[in-house]
Amino acid sequence: MSQLSQTTKTGGARLRLRLAPSAEMAVRSGHPWVYAERIREISREGISGEIAIVYDRKDRFMAFGLFDPDSPIRLRILHSGPPIVADEAWWQARMTSAVEKRRPWFQQGTDGYRLVNGESDGWPALILDRYGSTLVLKLYSAVWLPRMADLQRWIVSAVTAERIVLRLSRNVQDVFERAGHRDGQNLVGTETSEGVIFKEDGLRFWSDVVKGQKTGFFLDQRENRRRIGKLSVGAEVLNAFSFSGGFSLHAARGGAVAVTDLDCSPHALEAARRNFQLNRDDSTLASARHQSVQADAFDWLENGPGQFDVVICDPPSLARREHERAGAIDAYRRLATSSVGKVRSGGLLLTASCSAHVLAEEFHAAVAEGLRRTGRRYEELEQVGHALDHPTTFDEARYLKAVYLRMLD
Ligand code: SAH
Repeated sequence: MSQLSQTTKTGGARLRLRLAPSAEMAVRSGHPWVYAERIREISREGISGEIAIVYDRKDRFMAFGLFDPDSPIRLRILHSGPPIVADEAWWQARMTSAVEKRRPWFQQGTDGYRLVNGESDGWPALILDRYGSTLVLKLYSAVWLPRMADLQRWIVSAVTAERIVLRLSRNVQDVFERAGHRDGQNLVGTETSEGVIFKEDGLRFWSDVVKGQKTGFFLDQRENRRRIGKLSVGAEVLNAFSFSGGFSLHAARGGAVAVTDLDCSPHALEAARRNFQLNRDDSTLASARHQSVQADAFDWLENGPGQFDVVICDPPSLARREHERAGAIDAYRRLATSSVGKVRSGGLLLTASCSAHVLAEEFHAAVAEGLRRTGRRYEELEQVGHALDHPTTFDEARYLKAVYLRMLD
């Protein structure tokens, strides 16, 4: 049967699209998003989550994706290239391939990592994270709503897990709720209101998978946490925007003599204390002095007392929308100035940005300008991005950037 005459499960004719030339080119080169205004022709009104087939100007099959009438990203590409059919085996293989790819990367000491990283793993607007035997499925679009049962089946057959928790981004919570789902719901296994414990390089961490930010932990910073562990021997460390103390525990285990968490959230600081408690049997870690400062970090970095050998500055996203971009760049510049003011001569600064709307060049230029204004000499050691389990196949997915700097005076 040709693609043209295929019908959907509901018996209607397949949804067919044609795109503007620039969008056609982008899709051919692997870009996973088609914005509404780039759709030149549509065969009928589409339903959220249905498969739409893209034909090129010569009426040849080009790609297919999930139709998303509720988002400016109107089509989320699943496949581009020769015609194939998205049957059960195809979906299943796609899930298994994302999961299997990670298997050799994580040893026994680390059981918290990303299994599926959205479109870069072929699963638009979908994240699957593993925390020990708990999986967290986070959905960012209603396109998955008609496939909730399928998703569960594909996940369960690709990964062994005791529990799957569903997390929903704010923009889709209402539509999922109307269909009987809620943020934090348990899809498989017993409920956990307590969160779960997992391991990162042998350190034990608690993750609030039901209510916490993202899926409960910032898995994307793992490589940087490891590095900070190695760079903190004998150091006094300041962890600004510390959240649940991820960097702090690695620093303490790496031999830091003192670690200070700085966050405005009492819950975050409490979570960090809890994580230190969880690892009290580790004597190196337990011998580091651990203190917490509850304050606005922008203010404290400028006006707070003291200096440190290692400073980590990992703020939340400062540009959630495009129009916030200029303000965010300015904030990164100011943060670079103030956080370097907290670094002793010879010390180290790790400063990061997770704002998708701020490009890497813009962030690095802002940091350089912020440091220039201090008049201090420094060397840039390295610019880094995402951890391996967070692959990025297109520009918009590359939100995380960070740089290691050493102060020379
Ligand atoms: N570095 C962390 C993740 C940081 S998430 C890790 O590796 O796990 C950002 C943190 O910044 C959150 O804990 C949030 O409570 C905190 N935060 C947000 N705005 C802040 C502010 N103005 N001052 C201090 N902390 C802030």
